[in-house]
Amino acid sequence: MDAHPTIAAFRGALDRARAGGDRVGLVPTMGYLHDGHLSLMRAAADACDRVAVTIFVNPLQFGAHEDLAAYPRDLQRDLDMCESVGVDLVFTPSAEEMYPEPILSTVSVDALAHTMEGAARPTHFAGVTTVVAKLFNIAGPCVAYFGEKDFQQLAIVRRMVRDLNFEIEIVGCAIARERDGLAMSSRNVYLSAEERAAAPVLHRALSAGAASVLAGEDDPGAVRALMAGIVDAEPLARLDYAEVVDPASLAAVSSFVPGTSVRLLVAAKLGAPRLLDNLGVSIPEAGSD
Ligand code: AMP
Repeated sequence: MDAHPTIAAFRGALDRARAGGDRVGLVPTMGYLHDGHLSLMRAAADACDRVAVTIFVNPLQFGAHEDLAAYPRDLQRDLDMCESVGVDLVFTPSAEEMYPEPILSTVSVDALAHTMEGAARPTHFAGVTTVVAKLFNIAGPCVAYFGEKDFQQLAIVRRMVRDLNFEIEIVGCAIARERDGLAMSSRNVYLSAEERAAAPVLHRALSAGAASVLAGEDDPGAVRALMAGIVDAEPLARLDYAEVVDPASLAAVSSFVPGTSVRLLVAAKLGAPRLLDNLGVSIPEAGSD
């Protein structure tokens, strides 16, 4: 496995792989890897000849008062984990390599980026789409793997690729969870023992919301209220949002259409860390049970 800190070396290695006929899988990350990240790398390894991982804590997607400096980092551990699942190349640029001068050109995906995470973090998604666009241009044509854990991000990146004709195929991967349902996240290390014990409340709220839809609840507002009530009942949790949206447009749904699917999303702070989770639900056809 080769680690490349420079754009030129990483780009050159992927160009050579493609010239030899290899299909390249790309897994962009901010490092401090866990099994969720590894599941993306395994999916890439299953479908592609070469797997490239990027590890870059992108300053552009952190707000002024967010946890950029404190974001957990351990490059050697990350490289060992990449190697253990058969990754071929890792791109490990510095902030100076990615942003040698103040960036004047940015990519933003309009309507999808203003709700939910975008409402809480107004500059976040422009930071994400700008760095992902840079990584796509650096990596070149490939299959890029993103987690459904960051469902809004996945929808936004898909839309950016369509709108701007990137030669990139996007694959969304299921959320990897701890045994108690908590979605794996690099930020989980910040949870105190009490907060960690309370954290599965997000998944419990989503599961209850999904169960109510499957049991015939026909009012999305009632599902939102049910999920919000479950999170609010946990004293350590402070709910940010509980939403029921169309999976592609991310627009809040006002009714359930049989045969379609919706996405339930929740975000809450447990102490300092802000946790996200989501779940897909297929709306039952009328008459089915
Ligand atoms: P991050 O390092 O947090 O930027 O995440 C890098 C990629 O890993 C993103 O596409 C995330 O959606 C994905 N990811 C993070 N946590 C999980 C998880 N628990 N399950 C699946 N994918 C994940």
